[in-house]
Amino acid sequence: MPDAPRAYRGLLDRYRRRLPVSDSTPIVNLYEGNTPLLHLENIPRDAGIDAEIWVKFEGLNPTGSFKDRGMTMAVSRALEEGSRAIICASTGNTSASAAAYAARAGMQAFVLIPDGKIAVGKLAQAMMHGATVIKIGGNFDDGMRLVRETAEEAPVTIVNSINPYRLQGQKTVAFEVVEALGRAPDYHCLPVGNAGNISAHWIGYSECCPEERNCITEACNFCGGDCPYAGTPLADSRPVMVGYQARGAAPFVEGHPVEKPDTVATAIRIGNPQSWDLALATARESGGWFDAFDDDAILATQKLLAEREGIFCEPASAVAVSGAIKDLKSGRIAAGSTVVCTLTGHGLKDSDIAIAQSSAPVITVRAERNAVRDAIMGALA
Ligand SMILES: *Cc1c(COP(=O)(O)O)cnc(C)c1O
Repeated sequence: MPDAPRAYRGLLDRYRRRLPVSDSTPIVNLYEGNTPLLHLENIPRDAGIDAEIWVKFEGLNPTGSFKDRGMTMAVSRALEEGSRAIICASTGNTSASAAAYAARAGMQAFVLIPDGKIAVGKLAQAMMHGATVIKIGGNFDDGMRLVRETAEEAPVTIVNSINPYRLQGQKTVAFEVVEALGRAPDYHCLPVGNAGNISAHWIGYSECCPEERNCITEACNFCGGDCPYAGTPLADSRPVMVGYQARGAAPFVEGHPVEKPDTVATAIRIGNPQSWDLALATARESGGWFDAFDDDAILATQKLLAEREGIFCEPASAVAVSGAIKDLKSGRIAAGSTVVCTLTGHGLKDSDIAIAQSSAPVITVRAERNAVRDAIMGALA
């Protein structure tokens, strides 16, 4: 690879030993991962919260969401296995990511999206990268069913998170958090839609924890490469995993699939999550829970992060912070805790929503010095 020797080259390079790749796997990557873990400075103070809140900004992946972590893995393996086309159902980000990685690999991508219920930026990405976009007159859950059915008849590899390589790639987010903090957080909060990501986080944290992987700390530090876990960061505990949903699409809170999911947070507008059992096991094993927020609360948090921290995430991502704040205030998350929230996608993907809900003053003036000065003096007052 014609790279500067010290350059970061993506997850499959960085965590090769911990992922299902071999020397013969053709690696398809866009140097995904390695996203920043940012400390929230203003929001906890404003809210009178005594806790360290960190956000893992997955919106800074190459296509603007965490889906890239799973896609580099899934597309590399699909290529290795001789597949020439991939397919997914998507609320938007999976299709954007699949389209980009397919382009990189020289494969064809087919993406099924709910007609009219996808953020415009995500659609632009899928189209720009040359995917065949199939709009269906149904929601994500319909798309998921159709993808499963179609893949039985057509030579296409499914790259939704039911593809086990997706979760393997996505588990690396936990490795990065443990590396950045030097330990596992006490709580990890994230949005839940199809529920693959919460399950992937749990796989990753479990692999960092010696008690769970049946090997002793010393062996991992000193085995010099023979231990299968060599290269995995170490943590002596796992976090409590907390999953947050939108009120209109909250099957885990209601305890059953939701027929007609609806929310402004289109990335989590899912009523029949595919990783149902894995997500329930994650909550049970970690001592975690699920909760839901209405659209107004989600949008208010999205705006708060943008206005008070300079972090622009999508509505679906913001629900993790809505949840962390509420549960810290109520004491359900203990005071003094270290909390990490995954901000799953970038706010620019859904600029329509952002502009519609912004209350930032927009002043129109004549193109004259006095007019601009008066506008500024007026706003400063
Ligand atoms: C896909 C996605 C989610 C939901 O993740 P699941 O693994 O389906 O639970 C949340 N937020 C964003 C921005 C997404 O793209």
